[in-house]
Amino acid sequence: IIYFFDFKIILGKNGVPVAENFRLEQSTVADTIQVGQVRVRTLYLSVDPYMRCRMNEDTGSDYLLPWQLSEVADGGGIGVVEESKHDNLAKGDFVTSFSWPWQTVAILDGSLLQKLVPQLVNGRLSYFLGAAGITGLTALLGIREKGHVAAGANQTMVVSGAAGACGSLAGQIGRLEGCSRVVGIAGTDEKCSILVQEMGFDAAINYKKGNVSEQLRELCPGGVDVYFDNVGGDISDTVISQMNQNSHIILCGQISQYNKDVPYPPPLPPDIEKIQKERNITRERFLVLNYTDKQEASVLQLCQWIQEGKLKVRETVVEGLANIGAAFQSMMNGGNIGKQIVSVSK
Ligand code: NAP
Repeated sequence: IIYFFDFKIILGKNGVPVAENFRLEQSTVADTIQVGQVRVRTLYLSVDPYMRCRMNEDTGSDYLLPWQLSEVADGGGIGVVEESKHDNLAKGDFVTSFSWPWQTVAILDGSLLQKLVPQLVNGRLSYFLGAAGITGLTALLGIREKGHVAAGANQTMVVSGAAGACGSLAGQIGRLEGCSRVVGIAGTDEKCSILVQEMGFDAAINYKKGNVSEQLRELCPGGVDVYFDNVGGDISDTVISQMNQNSHIILCGQISQYNKDVPYPPPLPPDIEKIQKERNITRERFLVLNYTDKQEASVLQLCQWIQEGKLKVRETVVEGLANIGAAFQSMMNGGNIGKQIVSVSK
């Protein structure tokens, strides 16, 4: 017997996702598996902002398929093989997939799974959904491909969504790659103090308090050279207006706009676009999935930093498949520090 979710309400482009968009059901999986298949027990599932786009018929991008009404939702997941009829997988292997069904137990095509080496992350398997997975790759490749960070160039980096999964890594990687000053913007005082005390940011601004523009001007006296943008909207407009000539935006995400009917990337307001053009600030689309050729080496780099303690990793873990909808809602509303993970079984 398994439990699974399916979501029952198409949100509409301007809707705010809630836990009630998902339904928990009981079902059964087949007793036997076919050649090439494995039976897996789910250990961890990931909830991510891009899933908001999968709740619309039109996801807004050609690489994301919409979740189908009354079918099992899926996303990044990790599990353990309990039975295998696939040549390269054996009972006890840890495996992952980007399209793992939200089920406690599943029968999957073994050729679509990647085997994991727990030692690479000091046994912290869930890191493969975060710091040593897509999230870490997004931070690292975003900076390397779009950031133009150069050691010794005395660059100041600003990160929005800084205490989230990508943001908390991006600031640390910005420093490792050579930025001389790193400033974060996040939604609570607790997040800001973790960024400074644990993650090595020079300073952090709580955007829900006080005047962000004034604080940013004080904290970045030489202006902003690299902006790792996770959020878009007013916060980004404020940062962009303080960016230097020939500086660079890493257009990672625009979460403040995901519940609105706007194209991606959302156009900048005319006055901000004018600044961007006049100062020759780059703002190119970045999509981590476009760099598959660089993934393997980049994951090894991330794992090395984790093992050396150079990359501090935070997770917010919710227990139980029944709480995945609530975990998604919470993450979209800032309830997480670091990567939001759902622990399904031990
Ligand atoms: P995350 O940052 O761990 O979680 C989302 C965070 O966004 C929340 O914790 C919340 O923190 C913040 N937030 C929510 N609404 C906001 C608003 N209106 N204004 C400002 N901040 C808001 O999620 P993540 O997985 O690391 O993703 C971060 C960004 O990266 C997203 O935009 C995502 O789409 C993007 N992404 C892009 C790629 C790519 O290939 N380009 C790949 C992965 C992720 P606060 O408390 O600070 O508000």
